[in-house]
Amino acid sequence: MKLTADKQKLKVCINTSWCKACGICIEFCPKKALGRDADDKAFWEHPDQCIRCGICAERCPDLAIELIKEE
Ligand code: SF4
Ligand code: SF4
Repeated sequence: MKLTADKQKLKVCINTSWCKACGICIEFCPKKALGRDADDKAFWEHPDQCIRCGICAERCPDLAIELIKEE
């Protein structure tokens, strides 16, 4: 799937201070773009697979994920 230029500028940012490693975002990501770091917290492992849908941010109960526009 080809992303629009606008979407390509979005980065999935995960606040590791707020992440409690529940794994919900990882389960709901339709593209399996998220992984777990050494502390079991979520991280954006495969940006190339990510379609910037925002589901991870919507599902995180701790509001630890944001899609931020990179200029
Ligand atoms: S849903 Fe939120 S709290 Fe749970 S692993 Fe993902 S970023 Fe962390
Ligand atoms: S924006 Fe969508 S595709 Fe990208 S990591 Fe989040 S849920 Fe997965």
